[in-house]
Amino acid sequence: MAADVLSTQKCPHCHSKTLVLDKKCTECGFPIEGSQSQQDTFLSKIKKARKRVQEVQSFVKWAISLLYFIGMLYIFIFLRLQVPWGAKWAGVMLGMPYITLGIIASRYKPSIIFMVALAFYLFTEIVLLQYLHLPVSLFNQLWAKITVASILIVGSIAAYYSDKLKQKTKIS
Ligand SMILES: [Zn+2]
Repeated sequence: MAADVLSTQKCPHCHSKTLVLDKKCTECGFPIEGSQSQQDTFLSKIKKARKRVQEVQSFVKWAISLLYFIGMLYIFIFLRLQVPWGAKWAGVMLGMPYITLGIIASRYKPSIIFMVALAFYLFTEIVLLQYLHLPVSLFNQLWAKITVASILIVGSIAAYYSDKLKQKTKIS
């Protein structure tokens, strides 16, 4: 009978009222009508994926903190310096985009936002600062530039990977 293969149940794992297809919840894949060991295997797989997402998320948090840090650095250093108001303004204008991107990345598509931030960073460091003469230059050293770029790239990859993992395992 068709009803044996296809039935609606409340899934004990994802709690949605779901269609059971091939003994599995069609929402999350939990083997509702599977054996105990099949259910245990599924749950331990999810648990592992969750742990992995958590680990990967720490790289995302690093990249977000970096954006806030660069933004604050520009704003506070320039506001504290004894420089003309024009230079203070330039520092604030350079810092604000990083803070804004950090806020967006903490809520929305960090993998893309980090790449936008990296592009902005490279643009300011390589192009803009050639024309904008600031009294101090932050990130003048090559190692500092490489560090910033690396953290953003790793953060972007981590965010992408954790999104994929969440989608695949339907965890939030
Ligand atoms: Zn389910």
